[in-house]
Amino acid sequence: MSQIGVQLTDSPYAVVNMRIMARIGLPVYAEIDKAEKRVVPCVHSVGAPLEPGQGDVPWPCNKEKYIVHFPETREIWSFGSGYGGNALLGKKCFALRIASNMARDEGWMAEHMLILGVEDPRGEKTYVAAAFPSACGKTNFAMLIPPDFFRQKGWKVTTVGDDIAWIRPGPDGRLRAINPEAGFFGVAPGTSTTTNPNAMACLARNTIFTNVALTPEGGVWWEGMTETPPPECIDWQGKRWTPALAAETGAKAAHPNSRFTAPASQCPSIDSEWENPAGVPISAFIFGGRRATTMPLVYQAFNWTSGVYTGATMGSEMTAAAAGTVGKVRRDPMAMLPFYGYHMGDYFLHWIGMQKRLSETPRIFHVNWFRKDDSGRFLWPGYSENMRVLKWIVDRVHGRALGHESPIGWVPVHADIEWGGLDFPREDFEKLQRFDKAAWRAEIIGHEELFIDLHDRLPKEMVYERELLICRM
Ligand code: GDP
Ligand code: MN
Repeated sequence: MSQIGVQLTDSPYAVVNMRIMARIGLPVYAEIDKAEKRVVPCVHSVGAPLEPGQGDVPWPCNKEKYIVHFPETREIWSFGSGYGGNALLGKKCFALRIASNMARDEGWMAEHMLILGVEDPRGEKTYVAAAFPSACGKTNFAMLIPPDFFRQKGWKVTTVGDDIAWIRPGPDGRLRAINPEAGFFGVAPGTSTTTNPNAMACLARNTIFTNVALTPEGGVWWEGMTETPPPECIDWQGKRWTPALAAETGAKAAHPNSRFTAPASQCPSIDSEWENPAGVPISAFIFGGRRATTMPLVYQAFNWTSGVYTGATMGSEMTAAAAGTVGKVRRDPMAMLPFYGYHMGDYFLHWIGMQKRLSETPRIFHVNWFRKDDSGRFLWPGYSENMRVLKWIVDRVHGRALGHESPIGWVPVHADIEWGGLDFPREDFEKLQRFDKAAWRAEIIGHEELFIDLHDRLPKEMVYERELLICRM
């Protein structure tokens, strides 16, 4: 299921990062020589050539930037960027934008999804793939450590990937997924031994840090890594930083979008099958975003088409990272808005059509870790505790848990969730799951706005699903 790209770049930074993020070297040349697969050419320049005698700068790039994809010829050209997805062209540019276009033509899927395995107390392994927009918890969910209560019973979560999945119908008619990446390019701030111990262990060696702070001992630091900040450090711009200065000016030691580039093989939770070329069988898809209101903690779509509708109409409140008004819901179908490589209406049709190629369709769920109460506090503790939702999902997949019909899909009642080891008020669960008719009315009008934008290519199934949803309400 692999693909081959060659990135030509003038950036050593891009080279050393791609060495971690992709599988490189002589075996790839051997594959190229077989000439069975076309190589995707990726040309990258930071756009800062040096004149004779001109001194170099630590971070060359150009104010003018172009990130250009040619889906018809399957090429990528990037000019002016020295960082992130615009410089590491194997990631979003190839593995999502170009790959989604190949996938449409060849009958597979390239999705913005993490892949994780759940091992239950009987030792049975269930794999799920989840699409959350950027900064909505993919890396954290992929490396989830179950609460003690679950671990003692024998529940275990393993990581296959934290960002991108390539998914294809297998010989048995089930969808099988690989993680096309070999590393994690994760957001550093907020990552700590309390929030994500697996990520911390993973980045302990052979890791590249970008835009983090340096400690006098030669280590690295970022906001949220330790409860007490170091007494002093060099900030991401090379200036002296102290907690007192931060209190005074609000200066951050690490850039809020600073990153670690770490080999996935070093992750303690890495799944034994993570490099299986045949992929892992996917039993469920999970969609989710940041929603302060309206969306319950979890629900299951009635069937494949209503699940595609659920993914197609998913949204997330804008964070500072995305352009737009902070707090406003932005529709982000399948978390692919910045990444799909052809018309979104056709992309929905491709999803709907996948069912015909399968003997067993994965169940489709929607989750929301971010619902808030009236005073603006998160109702759900999240992180490890998401295991309780994941267990219901896995149990549903195997027909072991009850679902109750609601206008939007199957939902759990309080008794359907495992609460062992957590003192969580029943009223708060009711608040998390509450179906608010007025809010859903507004929600469906939001769906319609997306559909108007796509009207000339919108599959009729999406219109029927919306009509059925309105009827059920
Ligand atoms: P990614 O960009 O989708 O991989 O998201 P990350 O896993 O890096 O998380 C993005 C942000 O969401 C971080 O600040 C996390 O601390 C936060 N986050 C992740 N999972 C949860 C959760 O279950 N609950 C809450 N409240 N925040 C979360
Ligand atoms: Mn991530």
